[in-house]
Amino acid sequence: MNIKRLVKKEVSRLRAYNAKEIPCRIKLDANESPYDFRPALTVAKDISTNRYPDPDAAKLKRLLAGHLGVKEENILQGNGSDELIYYLIATFGGPVLYPVPTFSMYGIIARALGERTVEVPLDAEFDLDADKTLQAIRKEKPKLIFLSSPNNPTGNCFSSGKILKIVEKAAGIVVVDEAYQPFSSEKGFLPLLKDCNNLVIMRTLSKIGLAALRVGFMVAGAEIVAEVNKVRLPFNVNSLSQSIAVAALKDKKRLRNAVKTIMSERDRLFEGMQKIEGVRPFPSEANFILFAVKSPDKVYGALLQKGILVRNINDAVRGCLRVTVGTPEENSAFLKTLAGIIRNAR
Ligand code: PMP
Repeated sequence: MNIKRLVKKEVSRLRAYNAKEIPCRIKLDANESPYDFRPALTVAKDISTNRYPDPDAAKLKRLLAGHLGVKEENILQGNGSDELIYYLIATFGGPVLYPVPTFSMYGIIARALGERTVEVPLDAEFDLDADKTLQAIRKEKPKLIFLSSPNNPTGNCFSSGKILKIVEKAAGIVVVDEAYQPFSSEKGFLPLLKDCNNLVIMRTLSKIGLAALRVGFMVAGAEIVAEVNKVRLPFNVNSLSQSIAVAALKDKKRLRNAVKTIMSERDRLFEGMQKIEGVRPFPSEANFILFAVKSPDKVYGALLQKGILVRNINDAVRGCLRVTVGTPEENSAFLKTLAGIIRNAR
């Protein structure tokens, strides 16, 4: 049988997401935290492997609701926030609008589900282009708008005034993806939820040391949560992840210290990169830094040859690479190696 002919047109046109492991000594490519939560793993021994997980993730939701000051009915759990992007698009459909460059999964998932995408370029400061976005909203009437703030891969927060205007003018749902909010000096959009019934906030535990668990969640009005919950697979967050996440989230001191260290290391990394002639880092409110160099492909390859893996963003942001903040030792090694590579290239 010709399998290719059986595949839906929109799927057959796709290419699989390239998340392959590249061997390296220092891994600074995936915006993970360099600090893990090994002590939380001890709860794994209490799990009954023969039973399905709690389909409602009740304990986890109760804890998150308490931390965020919202009700449990305002939270929906995902197998990573990636899954919630999938569920949101499955629930509301397209067109799906997002600025570019941004997190690639909005477009990938929209296309996988056969929905039309509308991409609006960011302005020269990597901020939202409010005029163009509002124009596109009027013309295309997107059912969903995804705004990653802080934005991946640029690292900045979008102007909150512009986000608010978009929420106000949109005829559909606006998702503010706050995956990097813990590292930001800005307040975020949770306080606005009660006034905007078309607003969804997305968060994840992946960037604060728990990427292995695949736990993300969205916060929204109860009506939105109930609708999206209809497309959620019943046991989407497994028992191990639920228990370990609860144990880790209770360890507030460890969480806070890790985030604090990452933020101060980010600022040290930024200053260090600024001092290297031929390297232009962009200010970041996240746990990574976008930076421009003259020959990004060569610098990427030379870093990897020295065992340091960063992300090559040259396709999405011309001339740029993205480095995740690592431990102090990793960051120092990165700075030293980068300076050496640039010096040798002259
Ligand atoms: N949103 C943004 C902006 C991201 O950068 C990422 C991870 N790269 C995600 C969502 C997905 O995170 P998760 O691990 O929760 O699926």
